[in-house]
Amino acid sequence: MNILGIDFEDWFHPELIQKYLQKKNHEPKIFQGIEKIIDLLRKNETNATFFLVGELLEFKPELQDMIIENGHEIAFHTMKHSRIDSYTSPEKFEMEIINFDNLTNGKSKGFRAPSFSLNHNSSWLIDILEKNNYVYDSSVVPAKTKLYGLPNAENKPYRITKECLEKNSDDGKILEFPLLVTKFLGKKIPAGGGFYLRTLPLRIIKNSIKSYQKNNFPAVFYIHSWELTPEFMPKIKMSKQDEFVTYHNLNKAYGKMDELLKEFKFTSFDNFIQNSK
Ligand SMILES: [Zn+2]
Repeated sequence: MNILGIDFEDWFHPELIQKYLQKKNHEPKIFQGIEKIIDLLRKNETNATFFLVGELLEFKPELQDMIIENGHEIAFHTMKHSRIDSYTSPEKFEMEIINFDNLTNGKSKGFRAPSFSLNHNSSWLIDILEKNNYVYDSSVVPAKTKLYGLPNAENKPYRITKECLEKNSDDGKILEFPLLVTKFLGKKIPAGGGFYLRTLPLRIIKNSIKSYQKNNFPAVFYIHSWELTPEFMPKIKMSKQDEFVTYHNLNKAYGKMDELLKEFKFTSFDNFIQNSK
């Protein structure tokens, strides 16, 4: 069994877009796309974890029921999609987690750092998750990219601690679920979704999922809500490189995800953890 997380965020949340936006308040559009995302999961009989940007629940509280009533899980993706190293103190982050847990009645057991920004400067995050009774994290990409990555991290799930982000520690309380990676032209690269889903040939992604399955551990996959609903994604003027990362093959993501969901079995993090007990 593999694991699917949907990073549920609006068009103005991605880090590469945020830096081009002048004002702070934007009209949310993603609510128009939630039915389409839930339908995609329903027709493929898949449950998923929705890593929610918390402020979307403040705009539209019904979102929570729509996700839960359809058998999916809610997890935390910060309140405003902030990089972890942008918090001026661990307490500021903890206030957000407490706020989110109030909004969701403590349903969230998992976390994903925006832009996979968990690294050695922000490892205090693990202690805050523990303290607030979180069970798992999925913020580690075991490959080096321009924007993120912990290339020496394990590929299979492990117990993570503040002192050791990349290897299993038996006394760790938080389960880390690293994102799917693969070898491509002799280099370790991400293959677990997003830009890499849009850009890599599907055959390469399928082979990497198969090799994880053969080794008996889950391929952890992610997709952004806005990649599944490009019709609600405005085109922002940005540098050529940022534009490529944000918009390249955007209209192919839905079809590729659909094909993967038809060929492989995915479930939510919580279901996966419950089933492996
Ligand atoms: Zn995100």
